[in-house]
Amino acid sequence: MKFATKVIHAGIEPDPSTGAIMTPIFQTSTYVQAAPGDHKGYEYARTQNPTRTALERNLAALENGTDAICFSSGLAAQDAVIKLLQTGDEIVSVNDLYGGSYRQMVRVYGQWGLKSKFSNLYDANNLESAISSATKLVWIETPTNPMLNIVDIQAICAIAKRHGILTCVDNTFASPYLQNPLDLGADIVLHSATKYIGGHSDVVHGCLIVKDPGLAARLRFIQNASGAVPGPQDCFLILRGIKTLHLRVERSCENAERIAYFLKSHPKVAKVYWPGFEEHPNHEVAKRQMKLFGAMVSFDLVENTEANARTILSSTHLFSLAESLGGVESLIGHPASMTHASIPKEDRLKVGLTDSLIRLSVGVEDADDLINDLEQALQQ
Ligand SMILES: *Cc1c(COP(=O)(O)O)cnc(C)c1O
Repeated sequence: MKFATKVIHAGIEPDPSTGAIMTPIFQTSTYVQAAPGDHKGYEYARTQNPTRTALERNLAALENGTDAICFSSGLAAQDAVIKLLQTGDEIVSVNDLYGGSYRQMVRVYGQWGLKSKFSNLYDANNLESAISSATKLVWIETPTNPMLNIVDIQAICAIAKRHGILTCVDNTFASPYLQNPLDLGADIVLHSATKYIGGHSDVVHGCLIVKDPGLAARLRFIQNASGAVPGPQDCFLILRGIKTLHLRVERSCENAERIAYFLKSHPKVAKVYWPGFEEHPNHEVAKRQMKLFGAMVSFDLVENTEANARTILSSTHLFSLAESLGGVESLIGHPASMTHASIPKEDRLKVGLTDSLIRLSVGVEDADDLINDLEQALQQ
């Protein structure tokens, strides 16, 4: 099946009891057994729920994996991956990681004796020098947030594999429509389905997709044993959102491209970060591993004060000032004080995340309206 068919059909069967074409919301905590151990494959809803099962089968198909394991948030999914490790192990990651991912690695798991190292992996060769005998997990995000750097998934996974190290790719910013890391050698793909997969800014949800049954079993054990599972209504909403994933992402990317070029030619804008520009340092890698260049655009101002950024942030009408991304509506954000406030300022500045950097999540509205909104805000 091709992607546009999978989003509608993969893993979805009419409900056997009624023929309902949409997977029902199985709002139940337990299932009646005819005799002890004589059940229909469902015992207790932390362990299995049919709405969640349909979603997991669909997600596995979208990322060309064998198994998907769903969680109550993207960070709960990350938490499950890190629980594969032991005290004394080390994670090597990109140095402009999503703020919440960084916070969990450093402030939660740091206390448990796990070490996290953050390195410039946009040149994959830097991975060789970053890893040590304690490194058990390489964690990458691409495109990165909010600098929109591109990591060469295939090159990173090949190096990690040579050293017997597990790789996890946070594919949230690309979505499964644009990029499929398992096909490029990754062991685990993570999504915050809160973003493009759900797509309507109405659910918090996370998932992991793998292609190795042994790894799937270990993660499913953690899903059940730690218990950060999503409720059936959330699974239903994610399934519903997925049906238009390809249409939404395609339109968002088209809009983002127009906005990126508009900003690039604007006299008040100093720099635009978007992997579709030929001069982007990893444009060639983006072209190779992504179907389109994504719908996130960041930019910095010529007069680069936080005050000027704040004026723009509070002057847009269509772009709503909010955290998050990947919904049908466009959002504008200030990484330094919002999504990345938990990262120390000196670390932020090292990667170009200044106090005047503005991040856009471009939605599916009319591109002319979005550009006019940005134009009037830049004039303020
Ligand atoms: C939002 C996000 C997460 C965390 O997901 P939640 O669903 O908010 O827990 C992780 N990685 C990236 C890249 C994100 O954008």
